[in-house]
Amino acid sequence: MTKIGLEIHCQLTNLESKLFCSCKANYREFSPNVNICPICIGLPGSLPMLNQKAIEKAAIISMALNCKTPKKIAFFRKNYFYPDLPKNFQITQYDAYGPTSIGYDGKITVEGKEIRIRRIQIEEDPGRLIYEGTSEKTQITLVDYNRAGTPLVEIVTEPDFENPKQVRLFLNILVDLLTNLSVSDPTLEGALRADGNVSLEGGNKVEIKNVTSFHDLEKAIHFEITRQQSLVERGIEIISETRQWDDRRKITVSARAKEEESDYRYFLEGDIPWIKLSQEHFNKLKEKMPESISSKRDRYVNQYAIPGQVADILSSDKFFADLFEKSHDDLNAKEIANIITTDLMGFVDTREKREGLKLTSQHLTELANAIISNKISRTSAKIALQEIVNTGKPLSEIISEKDLGNVSDESEITEIIDEVINEESNAIKEIKEKPETVNFLVGQVMKKTRGKANPSTTLTILKKKLGLS
Ligand SMILES: [Zn+2]
Repeated sequence: MTKIGLEIHCQLTNLESKLFCSCKANYREFSPNVNICPICIGLPGSLPMLNQKAIEKAAIISMALNCKTPKKIAFFRKNYFYPDLPKNFQITQYDAYGPTSIGYDGKITVEGKEIRIRRIQIEEDPGRLIYEGTSEKTQITLVDYNRAGTPLVEIVTEPDFENPKQVRLFLNILVDLLTNLSVSDPTLEGALRADGNVSLEGGNKVEIKNVTSFHDLEKAIHFEITRQQSLVERGIEIISETRQWDDRRKITVSARAKEEESDYRYFLEGDIPWIKLSQEHFNKLKEKMPESISSKRDRYVNQYAIPGQVADILSSDKFFADLFEKSHDDLNAKEIANIITTDLMGFVDTREKREGLKLTSQHLTELANAIISNKISRTSAKIALQEIVNTGKPLSEIISEKDLGNVSDESEITEIIDEVINEESNAIKEIKEKPETVNFLVGQVMKKTRGKANPSTTLTILKKKLGLS
């Protein structure tokens, strides 16, 4: 049986400052090596000051992943030399004396399959190495320490995945969960990075690193399973190693023999004391936690009779779920959910479009109410929605500018019906025998009014005229 496990690094991008100093956590907007201080570049004599908010955010992630939390947490030094790590050790968490990381023994269910979370730990991100060309062939490597010391949470799963598809589904759920908790923005480059490990029944474990996208991780795991299976068939032993994903050739290549945990010489970080976590503090955090995606989904279905599939899509996207919450009441909830998931999500499909969105919750309320009260047809509503997204103009202005309002005036509709009756003498004969074919005439009226005639008024007048009612 194939066993796949994951190690996911998630930056706490919603924090103001780094994990152990007051430098900005958002390193992305700076020129290289300006967002730094003696602490995050590890100058001798500097001392770390722990960011309390980072502990709180990590605790929230831990609770959302159904983890247990220890009474006390500790930090450790993981020693290794690499140019992006100015201190020559990374401050992280390690369960040397029983569980002392922020979370352990969690679980999350993916399509009925339980994936166990082994551990969640808080740690600092290293700096960034920038290569000229590719890392293998580069002549010049530059180091940018702006990222050094930014807060990360590492989520380690048990090897419970059986195939790459489960990995993809899990990562999708995790992205939605982290966004919903407002702890991280996984759409930012490098904010969420996952490494995988793969082993076949009884075989050694191989780690896959350096995968830049979740899409490629799925491919890399798939490749690795096939590679290991072919080795087993030929009676060749699978060696325990770290392999890199070669993005160009779409294969994994041997990188180095896998380090053992003992290679890192973990020892307690003496500059940060053990931290007691009170149950009271956890309870307070729990109260402030946002509603979970699954509870939101159930509420949409039960309270507003929104179809399950629509509720799934809406609840798992925080941006649109928030918009829904601000715009709906009991009567228009279903219509608004429908507008958002059928049309709006398609119009607003990038990060940039979301950030520059001119549509407000008031626009949505008005649009849904206009549909419900038959002031505008669904076809016209879609045109109006696109115009609102583009311009932010009020709905009433768009309706009159583009002449999108429904024709509800009975005399106006009667005039058009008379025209249709004159033109469709064959259809009229058929209706006398099969009254249900009257809908054909309603369709013809709609055509003439470009979908704007009020359908129920049209049907009533038609039936009266043809003596069907
Ligand atoms: Zn700093």
